Amino acid sequence: MRLNSKWNRRGFLATVGAIAASIAAPRKMFSSSAAVPSSAPPSPAVSGFGHTGNPYEELGVTTVINCDGTMTTLGGSLLRPELEAVMASAGRHFASIPELEVAAGRRITEMLKLPAGYGALVTSGAAAAIQSGLAGILTGDNEAFIRQLPDLTGMKSEVIIQKSHRNPFDHQLRSTGIKLIEIETPEQLRQAVNERTAMMHFSNFANAAGQIKVDEWVKLAKQYKVPCMNDAAADTPPVSHLWDYANMGYDLITFSGGKAMRGPQCAGLLIGRQDLVACALLNNSPHEDTLGRSQKVGKEEIIGMVKALELYLNEDHDALAKEWQDRLAEISSELTKIPGVSTSFFTPDIANHVPHMSITWDSRVSLTPEQVSKLLRTSKPAIVLSPAEDRPGLTMNSFMLQPGENKIVAQQVARILREHSA
Ligand SMILES: *Cc1c(COP(=O)(O)O)cnc(C)c1O
Repeated sequence: MRLNSKWNRRGFLATVGAIAASIAAPRKMFSSSAAVPSSAPPSPAVSGFGHTGNPYEELGVTTVINCDGTMTTLGGSLLRPELEAVMASAGRHFASIPELEVAAGRRITEMLKLPAGYGALVTSGAAAAIQSGLAGILTGDNEAFIRQLPDLTGMKSEVIIQKSHRNPFDHQLRSTGIKLIEIETPEQLRQAVNERTAMMHFSNFANAAGQIKVDEWVKLAKQYKVPCMNDAAADTPPVSHLWDYANMGYDLITFSGGKAMRGPQCAGLLIGRQDLVACALLNNSPHEDTLGRSQKVGKEEIIGMVKALELYLNEDHDALAKEWQDRLAEISSELTKIPGVSTSFFTPDIANHVPHMSITWDSRVSLTPEQVSKLLRTSKPAIVLSPAEDRPGLTMNSFMLQPGENKIVAQQVARILREHSA
C-alpha cells in the first residue's frame, strides 16, 4: 500500500522547500503589461508561453517518467486524448452549473446502472466527494445548517471509523466539524453508536487491516440505521467497483476521476442515495456560503468526467492488465541479466489493483534502493521509481507509462545497477 508514501513527511518537506526556493528567487509575479486580447484565437497558442509544446520545461519544471502510479503529487494520471475535444467544446458555452451537475449525474447513473434510488455527482475529486457527502448528511437541505458548517450546533456531530482506517483523507471528514470516534471491534462499534452519530466511514483500501470487513460494515450500519460511506478513491480497477458498493448497500461511495479512469485531474465521483447526493450538491460549489464552495468543479471537468467514464466502461480491461504486465516483464528481462538482480511480481488486492514488480539485488550491487531512486530522479529523462514502505528493493507499476517508456526505464535502471556492480 503506497498511501502513506503519497503524502509523507518527506513529500511535505519537499513541497515546503520548493515554495521557499521560489520565494528566495523573487520575480515579478504580476506583470503590468498583461494586455489581454479581447477575443482570443480559438487555436492553441503558437507563440509565447507554450510554444515549445512542453510548458513545464518552459517554466523550468522537469517532466518525469512515472513508475509510481496515480500519485496526485505527480499529476495523478494523463488525460485521455479523447477528452481534449469534448472538454474544449464544453469551454465554448455557458450553462447553469447546478442544472449541468444534475444532468451529468443522471447520465452517469444510467451508464453505471446504479440501483433504484441511487444517483451520482461529479465533484472536484474523491476528497471533495468525502467532504460534501458528509456535509449533506449533516445538513440535509436545511439552508441555515448549510451556511453554518463547520459549526454543528443543532446537528449530529460524530463519525465512527475503525482505528486502522484512519488516513490523511479523513481531514475531509474533520473539516465539517465532526469528531472521529475510533473503534476496533463490533462490540466497540455497538457502544459507540448514539444519537450524535452522523455516519460510519469505511476506507476501502484498509479492508484487510480492520476487524470489520466491507460487507459487514454496511450490514451493521443498516442495523444501527446510520448512513455509511465507503472511500474507494483509488479502487478502480476492477471497473465493477463503480457499482459493487452501491449494490452492497453503501449510502455514499467516493471515487477519483483522475486516477486509473484517466478523467480530468480535478474531478471525482460521489455515488449514492439520491437524497444524500442532492444534499451534497447543496453544500458544494457553485452554491455560495457553503463549505464546499472551495471545491469548484468546472463545466469542462464535469463534461470530461462523463466522457472519461464512457471510455473507461468501454475499455478492454483484461487486455489492459495484460499490457501492463507485459511492460513489466520486458523491464524484468533486461534487469535480471545483471548478476545479483532479481524481480518478482504481485498485484495488490485493493487500491492500485494493477500489476506491480519488485526489483531487488544482493551485495554485488553497492547501492541502496533509496540511492538508485535518487539517481533515477536526476537522470535524463528523469524517472520516478520509489521504494515501497512494506517491501525490500524498489517497487514499480507500469500503468502510467507512456508507449516506449518501459524501454527507457529498463535501460536507465540497468545502467545504474551495472555502474555500481562489483
Ligand atoms: C487519492 C485518494 C483520495 C483523494 O482523491 P482525489 O480525487 O485526489 O481528491 C482519497 N482517498 C484515497 C484512499 C485516495 O487514494
